[in-house]
Amino acid sequence: MHEAAPVNPWVALAYLIAGVCFILALRGLSSPATSRRGNRLGMVGMGIAVLTTIFTHLPLQEVTVFAPAADYTYWMQLTLIDSVTFAEILAAIAIGAVIGLTTAKRIAMTAMPQLVAAFHSLVGLAAVLVGVAAYLNPQAFGISSMVIPMIGQPFAVINPVSKVEMGLGVAIGAITFSGSVIAFLKLNGSMSGKPILLPGRHVINLATLAAILFLVAQFAHGQEGWPFWAVVVLSFAIGFLLIIPIGGADMPVVVSMLNSYSGWAAAAMGFTLGNTAMIVTGALVGSSGAILSYIMCRAMNRSFISVIAGGFGATDSGGGGAAATDRPWKRGSAEDAAFLMQQAEQVIIVPGYGMAVAQAQHALREMGDKLKEHGVRVKYAIHPVAGRMPGHMNVLLAEANVPYDDVFELEDINSEFAQTDVAFVIGANDVTNPAAKTDKTSPIYGMPVLDVEKAKTVLFIKRSMGGVGYAGVDNEVFYRDNTMMLLADAKKMVEEIVKAMD
Ligand code: NDP
Repeated sequence: MHEAAPVNPWVALAYLIAGVCFILALRGLSSPATSRRGNRLGMVGMGIAVLTTIFTHLPLQEVTVFAPAADYTYWMQLTLIDSVTFAEILAAIAIGAVIGLTTAKRIAMTAMPQLVAAFHSLVGLAAVLVGVAAYLNPQAFGISSMVIPMIGQPFAVINPVSKVEMGLGVAIGAITFSGSVIAFLKLNGSMSGKPILLPGRHVINLATLAAILFLVAQFAHGQEGWPFWAVVVLSFAIGFLLIIPIGGADMPVVVSMLNSYSGWAAAAMGFTLGNTAMIVTGALVGSSGAILSYIMCRAMNRSFISVIAGGFGATDSGGGGAAATDRPWKRGSAEDAAFLMQQAEQVIIVPGYGMAVAQAQHALREMGDKLKEHGVRVKYAIHPVAGRMPGHMNVLLAEANVPYDDVFELEDINSEFAQTDVAFVIGANDVTNPAAKTDKTSPIYGMPVLDVEKAKTVLFIKRSMGGVGYAGVDNEVFYRDNTMMLLADAKKMVEEIVKAMD
């Protein structure tokens, strides 16, 4: 019988410290004011975890491995000189670090959501690869298994509990991988954001999930290897099938849900490998992602099940369809906007995806400062799904040093529009669309929106009347009597407004 190696108390302590760092990191990330400290603590925790793991497994010279027999029914004991050296591990880390650093430095803020989806796919793939490696070579990973002597050669059989953990970890990892790849392609515009609705998809998905669970049980109790590989293949397929029917405005929830899956995949592999740091980190990522998905569903007034079932935004027939430019609307200039805002007592700025595209946040901060100099009260209203990723607007405003105290969440500011002189909408669209409150046929019906139309005047920056938001629907606010359209690139328009202010 294989005995599990006792846990070195120093390793346990190091992993505990890493776990505490991760918890404090999440705490820090809960507010823009402390998010930088949170990020640093997360990096320290990850550094401790990685170094501890490397040093725990050194020196790696001679190892006993159990290679699978041709039919994968048992593992043969072999003693090998381990080909992985410390230098090779360092080289792999260096290559990963260079790729990570260059990507992070080069990536445009507008492409962040795709990047996050791509990173989730790598976490999923890593879980699958670790699971496969552990399955093929359980002894090298210290997985508790029974070694049964045979004539001439002993063989190892992985314990059923470890097999369940391995099967589930690989399944969740594979779902995360293929799901994140589809989310990446949709967010990157390489694939249409419209839902792809296969006939009978719910039955196919449920049957595939049931088959995966059955195969994990089969793998745990039997000696054959094929159920393991079938779990891997079916899980890749179900990840793809689960995400293609999800489209339009549900993408933010999908990204945070995949984040959660990647955490659970890592936690499951942590159980398989007996690595407490992986269990703690995976559980933190898994549960925080799940909580974020829940909060976002609530913010969009969607049930979690309907998001998972997909199909939202399948038609764009609701809400009046694409922008109807034949309706009368009013055009304003930078000078008009500057004059109106300087006369105001309070201006609420509503940023959206277009601000990110135009990188207008610095010019916007300058405009806010000028208004304050004129004695105008300036506030920023942030919708939970404005932009293309959770927290997108907060990050951009923080980058431009907009004071945190001026930034308000939807529920804290929505009642103020009715007493506000100017609502200044910059590159936002869906998050201000009143059809979400009134038009049951609109694909965004039910999503809470910012009540900009209640302000005395709405200044609305976008590039053209024809352009629509992410959900692809027209916005009634463009045609209201109290709305003035400022048609231009957001950054150029704000710079002109700043120039026009005396
Ligand atoms: P929208 O996508 O609804 O609207 C963006 C607006 O910006 C459009 O009206 C567009 O009009 C305008 N725009 C684009 N580029 C520029 C530019 N350079 N200068 C000026 N205006 C510009 O954005 P919102 O932020 O209001 O809503 C977010 C939407 O994205 C929601 O539907 C949400 O569900 C979805 N989503 C959110 C995610 C998240 O996590 N936050 C992730 C994925 C999707 P024009 O082309 O005419 O300029």
